[in-house]
Amino acid sequence: MSKMSLTTKMLVALVLGIATGFILQQVPPGMVRDTIIVGGVLFFVGELFLNLIWMVVVPLIFVSLVVGVTSITDPKKVGRVGGKLAGIYLLSTFPAIGAAMFFGTVLDPARGVTEESIGAFMAEPTIGTPPGVLQILIGIVPRNPFAALSGGQTLQVIFIAIAIGLAIIAVGEAAKPVRELFIALNEVIMKIVAAVMKVAPFGVFALLARTFSLLGIEAILALIGFVLVVWLALAFHTIFVYGAALKVFVGKDPHTGQSIKMSTLFKKGAPALAFAFSSASSAATLPVTMRCGRNMGFSREMASITFPMGVTLNMDGTAIFQGVAAVFLASFLGITLDAGQIMTILITATLATLGAAGVPGAGMIMLSMVLVSVGIPIEAIAFIFGVDRIVDMPRTAINVFGDFVYGMIVGKQEGMIDFAQYNNPTDLAQFAELEAAEDAALAASRA
Ligand code: ASP
Repeated sequence: MSKMSLTTKMLVALVLGIATGFILQQVPPGMVRDTIIVGGVLFFVGELFLNLIWMVVVPLIFVSLVVGVTSITDPKKVGRVGGKLAGIYLLSTFPAIGAAMFFGTVLDPARGVTEESIGAFMAEPTIGTPPGVLQILIGIVPRNPFAALSGGQTLQVIFIAIAIGLAIIAVGEAAKPVRELFIALNEVIMKIVAAVMKVAPFGVFALLARTFSLLGIEAILALIGFVLVVWLALAFHTIFVYGAALKVFVGKDPHTGQSIKMSTLFKKGAPALAFAFSSASSAATLPVTMRCGRNMGFSREMASITFPMGVTLNMDGTAIFQGVAAVFLASFLGITLDAGQIMTILITATLATLGAAGVPGAGMIMLSMVLVSVGIPIEAIAFIFGVDRIVDMPRTAINVFGDFVYGMIVGKQEGMIDFAQYNNPTDLAQFAELEAAEDAALAASRA
């Protein structure tokens, strides 16, 4: 077991968990099944795992966002590029969530679910009163930042993190130790997250086995439908939105006069996409993404702004997942979303992707923020928790692919793409040598 990769372990846990759930359904009800196994061991392990995830969420968002904002090291020089990227990263989230909610609503995989089939799982969903959009916006600014951190107010945490990050940049040299502290803290938290992910297969197994032992067949079919709709929305976004963005905003390659092809980005980005898919972490993929970006012709500076910023700010894949999930869970619980609530989902999911760190499952944790904002009970996440990995892998790959596409758009405008390298079928082989030569040229130009 220990030799398997985490991805394999998660898939094994997934299959075993579902199978165990079905087997438990066949076991006659009684103390052993209900109190000891489902209500005892599985409940204990599953809840423990959920608590672990919740434990890391606030420090994770807070620290990684501060580091993300401060990764724009030279705001004057990179301000315009960084600003354009940030704008595009943010704005592109809207069509992503929009398409996701469209597919979620039209295909409505939770349609056939009856109250009985989820009744045993969630006795009485407590449906809160949805807060209004104004209320959400006012609530973004915390009166007491410490209360926001300790109370897990994720929107407020995001606000404080951005404020601190911008202030660190503005202060400059004197705040360098603070930035370094945050970078070190980020490493520490990532270590804890990595440890949590090590036990994740057990947590996933327990959650799935319990879920599938309690859910009726329609609910299970609905979950399969959910996964398929997320995949479909991701594919739609990649082919149509990224395809159109490349055509309209990048257009022709000045070197050859031919259109920029998505297939070239796929080919040159393949190592990063594969790593993102199997690790489900765009943060862990960052070094590979940078290398692929340079092979596409990104200048060193362009790559070092585009990709670290993209890890935190650009998560179209995660946004798509959240859009489908919000619509799905609402339908699952029989809640009809009105226009105001749909707008609220658009805004909160955009903010939630900003706050999601590029680690496995982050998007699902942040989903709680979206659900709360429209009054869907947070416990509903438990339904999709078990299948999250299957949708996390493709959404992470799309998160990374989006960085390439948007980086191409801004990079071409700013003249920071080397189209000779873009057209070069062979990769830049010696990165260390290349970067040493670049450093030498830079030093010479300053002398
Ligand atoms: N795993 C995703 C990423 O690293 C974030 C998410 O959970 O949606 O990009």
